Formats: sequence, structure tokens, C-alpha cells
Amino acid sequence: MAIALKRIPLSVSELGEPEAAAARRAILSGWTTMGPEVAAFETEFAAAVGARHASAVSSGTTALHLALKAAGVGPGSEVITASHSFIATASAIRYCGALPVFVDINPRTFNMEPDRTEAAITPKTSAILCVHQMGLPCDVAAFADLARRRGVPLVEDAACAAGSEILWDGRWRRIGSPHGDMACFSFHPRKVLSTGDGGMITTANEKWDRQIRLWRHHGMNVPAHARHVSDRVIWETYDELGYNYRMTDIQGAVGREQIRRLDGIVARRRALAARYTKLLASIPAVTPPFEPEWAHSNWQSYAVRLDARLDQRTVMQSLLDEGVATRRGVMCAHREPAYPEGTWRSGPGGLRHSEEAQDQCVILPLYPRMPEEDQEYVVNALRRACQRRHGAAC
Ligand SMILES: *Cc1c(COP(=O)(O)O)cnc(C)c1O
Repeated sequence: MAIALKRIPLSVSELGEPEAAAARRAILSGWTTMGPEVAAFETEFAAAVGARHASAVSSGTTALHLALKAAGVGPGSEVITASHSFIATASAIRYCGALPVFVDINPRTFNMEPDRTEAAITPKTSAILCVHQMGLPCDVAAFADLARRRGVPLVEDAACAAGSEILWDGRWRRIGSPHGDMACFSFHPRKVLSTGDGGMITTANEKWDRQIRLWRHHGMNVPAHARHVSDRVIWETYDELGYNYRMTDIQGAVGREQIRRLDGIVARRRALAARYTKLLASIPAVTPPFEPEWAHSNWQSYAVRLDARLDQRTVMQSLLDEGVATRRGVMCAHREPAYPEGTWRSGPGGLRHSEEAQDQCVILPLYPRMPEEDQEYVVNALRRACQRRHGAAC
């Protein structure tokens, strides 16, 4: 076995000189949180995704918490979502005192399905939280139709989906306008657009937007910056129990630079994903990800499915031995110790596809600066890893 001295990471952040200069600008401005940079980032992000309102918060998780709360999710109610997601999706429901109801995913798209979701609706359902998993849009048109028919608010977990698009009324539109009632984004470094940490909630509903702005800043009725620039004395009041879910101006300034580069970043990720799919055609034991004709993924993650006869851990270890970092398929919250019985329930039909996706998928390295020859290296290492186990299958 030839061991090369190569190291290919799972992902490499796109933060660089422009973002560093922006952070410096914010630091030296003397205003470092919830100020003009955050306000400009909100305006520019709203324009980039076609949203009426965008409010910045400290993370994707706090975005989900406030969006669900604004939608009216509270103790004793249920929210239908995917278990096959990052744990924050389900945890945000529990922060509201509500019960996550997990529905299974479609095994090809890894996204939850409208039919299973409709079958899980009960009189206790207070919201549907659909997820655009790994950047691939879910069938949000069907979810929006379902939500309207059943009179249930639809929140989109768009944590991974900045720059992803769907065909909507015959035109390609970015996720986040939003197509449901609210969409929540994350700017963690593993996502396509990053501010280090951070999040955003978009909505067309002015009342919800106002409510979210109040909660993220301790329930204070006057934004700090408004008080600062006023030539009149203002006394604030705290009208509701709020949170400190603020975004800093340092993050906001970085985010503004990232938006300018979003088109280029997504185009590069799409080109790399298309190359992977072509290269992987030569390995029958590996199924590349599927993209419906009405969706453009931003390829936040590129997950392949291994033939059921292959052992996931062995394949991943073989790749790591050759210097290639990977991750297994997206987690299932219901399998974690933090989710004992009684803290969630399953919708009709169980969660078999969710568990299989976690157990059979491997996420391959993909980032804009990834050299094309590294993709060949990854695919060749994957081929060797499969052959070592199952010569015939490969
Ligand atoms: C990353 C992620 C989150 C949480 O975002 P943070 O910014 O890390 O809090 C929520 N949902 C999904 C689907 C994610 O991938």
C-alpha cells in the first residue's frame, strides 16, 4: 500500500484578506456589536436572498429558537421535523418546551418528505420545521402548500442553504425569501457563508421580525445604536423576557464581504460537485448524491452512499490512512443520549431511512480552493478502500 504524504481536509474556510480587513474596520470603528455593520449585513443579506426582513443573531441555533418562538411554538405543543439533521434542529424545538416529532427522510435526497409530514400532523402541531439538508433544498413548494392547507406555520432550517436555489414559478430563486414563513441561516465555518459564528432569520412578516429583534436584545424596546445616535434622552424599557442572541459588528462586517463572494463560492462548489459525480461513476459500490431537476444545491456537504456490504468505519479509516478526512452521514438526533424516550416521538412509518443514511453515507472533502487533482486523489483512495473490502463490488 503506497502511503502518500497528502492531507486533504474535509473543508477549508473561505475567510481571507477581505474579511480580515472588514473585521479590522469594525474593530477600529469603535462600535463592535449590534451597530451599523450588522444593520448593513441584514440589508445586504435580505437583498441577496430576496427577503423583506432579515434579523441577525448569534448562531443558526438561536435563529431557530427565536423563529419557532415567534411562530407560537410553546410548551405542550409538537413540531414536526427531521431527526436526520444536526442536533440543533431538534434542540431548538425543545428550548421552546415543545416535543420534536421526527419524520423519516427520502433516501435519495436526505430531506424530509411532505407526505410523511402531513401524516404526522395532530391537533398539537404548532409548526413544521423543514430542513434543507446539506444545502439541497427540500420540496419547500409542497411544504408551503401543506402548511397553508393545514394552517400550520412553516419554518425552514436553511442553516446549510445560503446560495442554494429552487425553481419557483418557473424561475430560479435563492432559498430564504422565504418560501415558508421564516428561514433560519447559520454562518458557522462549516457552512457556505461564514462569519465565524452567526445566524440570520428572514421573513416577510413584519410583526415576527419586530418580535425577534426585541428578543435577541434582552427584550429592550430601543436598539442600542438608535439610543446612541439620538439627540434626545431615551429611557429604554424591558417589555418581555429576552435573550442575548446578538451578532457583533465584527461578524457583520465579515458577513458583508462573504455575501459579495457568495456567487463565486457557490459556482466553484457546484463545479467540484459535478466533477466528483463524474469521477465516481467508475465506482459501482458508491452512489453519488442526487439533485432533483427543480433544485440547485450549494453543496455545503457532498455525501456519497456506500453499498450496504461495505463497512462505513473501515472505509473512512482507509481514507484517513491515505490522508483524506471524511465524516459519516448526517447524525440522527433520536439516537443520541441527549434524546431519551419521552423527549421526542416518531411520526408514522419509523425512521429507517434516516438511520440508514447515517450508517451508510460518507461526506467527502469539498471546498472552493480544493485543487482538482485532490478530487482525483480522494476518488482513487475511495476506490482502493472499497476494493480492499469487496473486490467484486468495486
Ligand atoms: C449547523 C446547523 C445548525 C446550527 O447552526 P449553528 O450556527 O452551528 O448554531 C442548525 N441546523 C442545521 C441543519 C445545521 O446544519
